Amino acid sequence: MKIGAIEAGGTKFVCAVGDEHGHIFEKVVIPTEAPAVTMPKVYEFFRNKDIERMGVGSFGPIDINEKGGTYGQIQKTPKMDWIDFPLAGELEFNLEIPVVVDTDVNVAALSEARWGNAVDVDTCLYITVGTGIGAGAIVNGGTLTGLSHPEMGHIAVRRHKEDAFAGTCPYHNDCLEGMAAGPAIEERWGKAGAELAEDPLVWEMEAYYLAQALVNYIYILSPERIIMGGGVMQQEQLFKMIRKNVVDMLNGYVSSPRLTADNIDQYIVAPGLTDEAGVKGALGLALRNSSAIEK
Ligand code: ADP
Ligand code: ZN
Repeated sequence: MKIGAIEAGGTKFVCAVGDEHGHIFEKVVIPTEAPAVTMPKVYEFFRNKDIERMGVGSFGPIDINEKGGTYGQIQKTPKMDWIDFPLAGELEFNLEIPVVVDTDVNVAALSEARWGNAVDVDTCLYITVGTGIGAGAIVNGGTLTGLSHPEMGHIAVRRHKEDAFAGTCPYHNDCLEGMAAGPAIEERWGKAGAELAEDPLVWEMEAYYLAQALVNYIYILSPERIIMGGGVMQQEQLFKMIRKNVVDMLNGYVSSPRLTADNIDQYIVAPGLTDEAGVKGALGLALRNSSAIEK
């Protein structure tokens, strides 16, 4: 079956044609400008390609509640031109195929679960630490939707004892994203994260905040694996520090062999998929509610 896949990001739309096995036959990158500029190029790419379904992993916030009247509609984003744009509806209307949307992080989780570093487990969590912090989870075979979608980057965290930084979140100041996303690191220390590799306190604080978040996700969602991606996680020393903090903070409370000091290396891991994670995940997403699912 030919499937359309879109990774709709704040700077670019990656559009691909592939199949249910995760093969990608053709791919283009279209810059994210106003919908009136970007979308006709998207329709043009997909037209006359015999696509039967489409999956879209989108920047947000986007409504992913299938029961509401605004499924697949972009919500209040700083990208003003896109506010209230009915992304799924317009794609369905213009391409005349069923379109399934989910958040970019949910799609990344789906992609890792089907083709990446979580193929051997039933539940997983994917967190990206980049310009923002967002996480998606696969629980009971699917992604989580509800009121809207989870906003796991905005949870409250305890302050590190040496941290007086006010935080960058326009809504909550010192939430997780406000304290630990790439821009928070840059504002707190006056330099981008990539230039701070040699400063141990930077990463001690970073690991402290991220580990608290993971502990909360473990308590609430009970994932069997946690995958950490995004630009900030290129500081590979973070993995070891986060793992140690998580084991210490859990303090043995959750009984699972996966969470012991010996096994935590296989529990908190980097992504298995790189460049094509977004579009591959979108291929998988397109098959939701379809019988052709391939792991
Ligand atoms: P986005 O979240 O916009 O999709 P990224 O995941 O690449 O993009 O995240 C960008 C953020 O990651 C920036 O704030 C940048 O400073 C930070 N970043 C990128 N590379 C590194 C690095 N090697 N070390 C630390 N931080 C980095
Ligand atoms: Zn916030």
